[in-house]
Amino acid sequence: MTGLQNKVAIVTGAGRGGRGIGQACSEMLSSAGCRVVVASRTLANAEAVVAVITANGAEAMACSVDVSNAESVESMVSATLDRFGSVDILVNNAGITRDNLLMRMSESQWDEVLDTNLKGAWLCMKAVTRPMMKQRSGCIINISSVMGIIGNAGQSNYASAKAGLFGLTKSVARELASRGVRVNAVAPGWIDTAMTTDFSDEMRSRILERIPLGRVGSPEEIGAAVVFLCSDHAAYITGQTLVVDGGLTM
Ligand code: NDP
Repeated sequence: MTGLQNKVAIVTGAGRGGRGIGQACSEMLSSAGCRVVVASRTLANAEAVVAVITANGAEAMACSVDVSNAESVESMVSATLDRFGSVDILVNNAGITRDNLLMRMSESQWDEVLDTNLKGAWLCMKAVTRPMMKQRSGCIINISSVMGIIGNAGQSNYASAKAGLFGLTKSVARELASRGVRVNAVAPGWIDTAMTTDFSDEMRSRILERIPLGRVGSPEEIGAAVVFLCSDHAAYITGQTLVVDGGLTM
């Protein structure tokens, strides 16, 4: 048994029109038995994912949220508690890129990425902490990136936010461990989603050369890591980062 049956999971950034990591996490947590709150900026995108889940006979709820806004995050958690009565799992997946070389990067490009990718995760964790502490159980997954480990030219904002998630993960894992709440990070390498479709052919082949397994990853390969870390199979794992990158950063 995975212990995921009937658990309530919030997945942020889960409503991409194309196939994103959040959508894969939502569908795979649902297949594992969870009731899923599919949360994204664009409600229609979240509703489309909910339609897929409910067509398979499972329960899910669409929710519009801006993770960089505290009020919006609090109403997402309230709506979850109203509908399902608890929140057991939070997957902080919402993320954006605003790439530019440091010399050319604007302050707003820095702020937007930090506000969504780092502060957004912090706000969502803060909002679920009380219900999770009260029920003395819970599981939080922060979707970071290998760029937070190795850095990337043109992504000083993104890499900083993703590196920040490692410190956030460990600090909150220490704060909440005694209350039965586990907090871990997943660091994907290059995953085939809308975020990476704009890469030029030259950039693609340069990156592929550096991946020992010789291919990009799929959203489902990140979903599998998330489902594992949320399950009872990972009951003794907290404060860790699971790198899923085809060997890129070994
Ligand atoms: P996508 O761009 O496909 O999806 C990102 C999702 O985040 C969208 O649903 C988007 O909503 C949502 N979002 C953006 N801003 C906000 C916000 N302020 N509030 C709520 N939702 C928001 O990305 P991926 O699926 O590729 O990436 C998912 C996560 O994985 C990100 O955190 C990314 O940094 C990380 N990652 C991805 C890698 C890759 O190679 N793809 C590699 C490493 C990490 P909307 O559709 O409404 O815009």
